[in-house]
Amino acid sequence: MSNKLFSNHILALLDVINTYSLGLWEMENNMISLDQKACALIGLENVKAMAFEDFLNLVDPGDRHELAVTLQQVIEKPGASGSVDCRVFIKKEKNYRWLRIMGKSYLNQGKKILLGTAQPVEGKVVEYLTAKIDAMTGELDKKSRLNQCIFEITEVLLNTDDAAFEQGFQSCLKSIAKAFALARVYLYKNHLVDGILCCTEIYEWCEGVEPTLGEDFTKDMPLHAWPKVLEQGQNYNSLIKDAPQQICDLIPQGIGSILLTPVFLKDLFWGFVGFERTGDCPFSQDEESTLDSVALLLANSVIRFDLNKNLYLAVDKINTTSIRAEVLEKFAYTDALTGLYNRRHFMELAQSVIEKAKRFESVCYAMILDLDFFKKVNDTYGHLAGDEVLKGASAVMKNTLRSYDLLARYGGEEFVVLISDTVEEDVLHLADRIRDSIANTSFVYNDTKIKCTVSIGVAKGLPGSTITGLLEKADKALYMAKELGRNRVIIEPVSQPG
Ligand code: GH3
Ligand code: MG
Ligand code: MG
Repeated sequence: MSNKLFSNHILALLDVINTYSLGLWEMENNMISLDQKACALIGLENVKAMAFEDFLNLVDPGDRHELAVTLQQVIEKPGASGSVDCRVFIKKEKNYRWLRIMGKSYLNQGKKILLGTAQPVEGKVVEYLTAKIDAMTGELDKKSRLNQCIFEITEVLLNTDDAAFEQGFQSCLKSIAKAFALARVYLYKNHLVDGILCCTEIYEWCEGVEPTLGEDFTKDMPLHAWPKVLEQGQNYNSLIKDAPQQICDLIPQGIGSILLTPVFLKDLFWGFVGFERTGDCPFSQDEESTLDSVALLLANSVIRFDLNKNLYLAVDKINTTSIRAEVLEKFAYTDALTGLYNRRHFMELAQSVIEKAKRFESVCYAMILDLDFFKKVNDTYGHLAGDEVLKGASAVMKNTLRSYDLLARYGGEEFVVLISDTVEEDVLHLADRIRDSIANTSFVYNDTKIKCTVSIGVAKGLPGSTITGLLEKADKALYMAKELGRNRVIIEPVSQPG
């Protein structure tokens, strides 16, 4: 700051004669100058002057407005004075401190100035610290309550014998509800009905709202009644007032916010857990991640319990075929060798992806991937070695694709992918990365290294395309890729709906 500033002279003078800290605000250039005591008070070392806004930035955002308005009013009216208690950030202490800032305004040679002083407000400091400590203990309390609750449910779920499972499980749901201030917590389990993925509510705890467990509409409900993001492995977290009518229809009156967490068993979409609250209080990120683990814990214990039930069934009835049928049904939408979705399930899911693309008038892409000269792999190394290559190639595809790309084993050594919300360039890039990784992988079977390549046909589906039409086009492109020498990606140029 220039020495010519009026403030510097005054402050130097006042510094000698007073014991208070002083600050001077000159309206003309909007600068605040501080004397040594003021600087020391707020822990600024070499700053003697600063823009008014910079000074305001030292003040807690919650107090900033009041301070600015008061000082503004004082400076506008020469002779007026005022005072405000506010929290000022003390740089050295890296903390806020309550200061009482008092000011009086003067007219000096036609220019408006405000002379101010600040003093620590001891009572406020205590009040402030107490509030801080309270907030912290509140936070700690909440955290330890959550941890306690998770310990409790782990204990119950892992150690309760099956006879007491249902009861133990209910008590867990209740203690989760208490710890997270929930009105309702429930589990839906997926299963197939006539080839369509459906879900049924299997457990529920609620208080203050109507239960839905056992209601007809919660049995064999097509999964697409629930948010699509669940199938893609993502949570659905929303205030009810922002949720579509379709979701509101599924939950009881009085619920204000909802968190749905899907549960996957390896790659199998097993079901989902729902957490609901009354009032407009959304689930925070912290809560969401804790509840993710809670959901997994709950689902895992139900799965374990189900498996045990099946075992008892086996012992009781010595009827292995019925077990096999049940297990088969459970895995009816994945392929046993690769763990990928099978063709039938792919077609079902693809249909809904295509319908969504049509609604949003977006394009989607299909890829068919066929391993090259695979018969030769079998002939040279044997069928089991071939299986190993199929598994390895599936893993490469899965790792290269994003979790929301729909990948399935289409049959034999053919795979299929449906990609939406992506531009052509990225689709081709993905396809080429798969091709490249497979070509550069040595698949190992009994110490033998096996090389294999893949040809990929890609087709673009415009809004209105059908899945069969799209796959036909991808198949044509694949045929071209084979014709042109294999180990390559070809995109079908014709892209009319059909
Ligand atoms: P191209 O490059 O033209 O695709 O040649 P290809 O030999 O891969 O094609 P082709 O359709 O003649 O042969 C496919 C082979 O894939 C024949 C079949 O035995 C083998 N195959 C299909 N399913 C499996 C499987 O589950 N395990 C193993 N090991 N082989 C399989
Ligand atoms: Mg083939
Ligand atoms: Mg082949």
